[in-house]
Amino acid sequence: MRRVSILGATGSIGQNTVDLIARNADTYDVVALTGAGNIGQLAADATRLGAQIAVTAHEDRLEDLRAALQGSGVEAAAGEAAITEAAARPADWTMSAIVGAAGLAPGMEALKHGATLALANKESLVCAGQLLLATAKQHGAQILPVDSEHSAIFQALQGEDMTAVERIIITASGGAFRDWPLAQLADATLEQASSHPNWDMGQRITIDSATLFNKAMEVIETREFFAVDPDQIEVIIHPQSLIHALVGFNDGALMAHVGPPDMRHAIGYALHHPKRETLPVERLDLAAIGQLEFRAPDEARWPALRLARETMAAGGLTGAVFNAAKETALDGFIAGRIRFPHMAEVVEDTLTQLSGENGLIAATMTLDNVAHVDHLARTAAWTAIDKRAGQ
Ligand code: NDP
Ligand code: MG
Repeated sequence: MRRVSILGATGSIGQNTVDLIARNADTYDVVALTGAGNIGQLAADATRLGAQIAVTAHEDRLEDLRAALQGSGVEAAAGEAAITEAAARPADWTMSAIVGAAGLAPGMEALKHGATLALANKESLVCAGQLLLATAKQHGAQILPVDSEHSAIFQALQGEDMTAVERIIITASGGAFRDWPLAQLADATLEQASSHPNWDMGQRITIDSATLFNKAMEVIETREFFAVDPDQIEVIIHPQSLIHALVGFNDGALMAHVGPPDMRHAIGYALHHPKRETLPVERLDLAAIGQLEFRAPDEARWPALRLARETMAAGGLTGAVFNAAKETALDGFIAGRIRFPHMAEVVEDTLTQLSGENGLIAATMTLDNVAHVDHLARTAAWTAIDKRAGQ
């Protein structure tokens, strides 16, 4: 029996993972499931899968979780530290699908205990890529990509030599406002930004797809995960979201990964790696699809891509600033404090401000230093939000 844990089990990635595990429940020994506000789903899945422990991030929801788990035999716990402790329980495979920088510490903990970490939480790589990869190496643990583009790149690289790789191209749908007139973006509502043309995902990543901050994060994720130079990474707008990424080799060949926009493919690939198993995803009918389109991203519409390049060039702990500023700008937009185009301005202001703080960005990459920079960046980003509030 394979021991598996799912961090962020109640979210969009988490629920797709639960679905795959539940289909073959007798081959898995479920260790820990974690969630935050969705206590009902957490308790129902932990009971159904016979988990050892269910943990909510919200300390004040412990009694609710206990009540929901009554009679199930599943242990209940609550709080950030309890999530990290649950991630440390011996498991063979752990899904890292908490949203935001909160996913970093539990993911690190799973790696320290040698679990294969299926990494959906791209924020960990953006904030602390070197630290995460070094921890995996030190403990003989493997990280497998779950982000669809990175799973695609990983698959295209199987059996290939990295020295033959010239470039990596990741695709972006362009999100909700791909074809809007630029001047109209200032009036984009939260509801409009929260609907994705192709993928059904959590609200935060859906809005990040409209700003292209999701793609910007993925460019940094590509650099960290595959150790390529920033100028080897390209982004292309591909409205159909059927090609997830392409790898270009030194003989001119481009290996493209094509598949339906269903995260169960990338999750299932990471779950069964190095084998392939039958997965319950749609089989594409290329004749019915007919055409695939590509166009260059317009950097005036999506300044996030330029900001990602500046972040990579600055190096050090700049990724943690970028991520925290982006998360805070998104909080500000969701709270109705700023308009859609303000999000990129807030990130840019925060990057400019913290790059001037002596020694901050160059500090050693430890969990504590990353947390410190994250905190300062959130404070600076809120100031940048307040400056624009009501405009
Ligand atoms: P969701 O918002 O749908 O789910 C997030 C999960 O994290 C939920 O289980 C949520 O609990 C939990 N959570 C929220 N806040 C905290 C916290 N402070 N501490 C601990 N747990 C918390 O997100 P997604 O599933 O969309 O995304 C998860 C990760 O995967 C992100 O990093 C995202 O970028 C990445 N990703 C997602 C893709 C997708 O298709 N959705 C594609 C590629 C990558 P609860 O719901 O109970 O409140
Ligand atoms: Mg992706």
